[in-house]
Amino acid sequence: MKNKALLGNVPEVDLSALDAAQREGHTCVRCGRVPLHRVDLTQVGAPDLIACSGEDAAICSRPVFWLATPCPQWCNGLHDDRDAGPDRRHFSSWEEQVPLTLEDAQEMGPGLGWQPEYAVVSLDQGVREDAPRIWCGKGATNQGWHLTEDEARRLAVTLTAAANLAAGELAGQLQLPFGIVAA
Ligand SMILES: [Zn+2]
Ligand SMILES: [Zn+2]
Repeated sequence: MKNKALLGNVPEVDLSALDAAQREGHTCVRCGRVPLHRVDLTQVGAPDLIACSGEDAAICSRPVFWLATPCPQWCNGLHDDRDAGPDRRHFSSWEEQVPLTLEDAQEMGPGLGWQPEYAVVSLDQGVREDAPRIWCGKGATNQGWHLTEDEARRLAVTLTAAANLAAGELAGQLQLPFGIVAA
């Protein structure tokens, strides 16, 4: 669809903030993308500008067109129109690292010496998924596993029980989740 409107009828457009492609009528004056369906915005005595038509309002109004709902509060917000399907995930800005001094050391780069391996914990969630996953992995590798909230809580209690056992607590006194009795 192609139609025309007077620029004066699009009051939200700040002409002084347009980039070169917008000023030359190549991209939408609101969102900066090439419109699928365009409206020509006629300026008196100047070249026409263009905008996405009303039927593409959802694309035009979103800073990232594929983000239809707000990010979870923990998301780092690093999203872009160009992100391919598998990259359309929320990732937490929060990330915790635990040194693993019993594991083999790792070299972070040439000439940087050897550093301890570590466990990393963070959150991620696909934009079409309804709950986050908790990632527990080894350093910067993809070796690790994803947990639900319940599984993470159970693992936390289990690790605490193992630490207490290592510290000398009697197995029969261990506090384990979900009614599990220690042997
Ligand atoms: Zn637009
Ligand atoms: Zn996000």
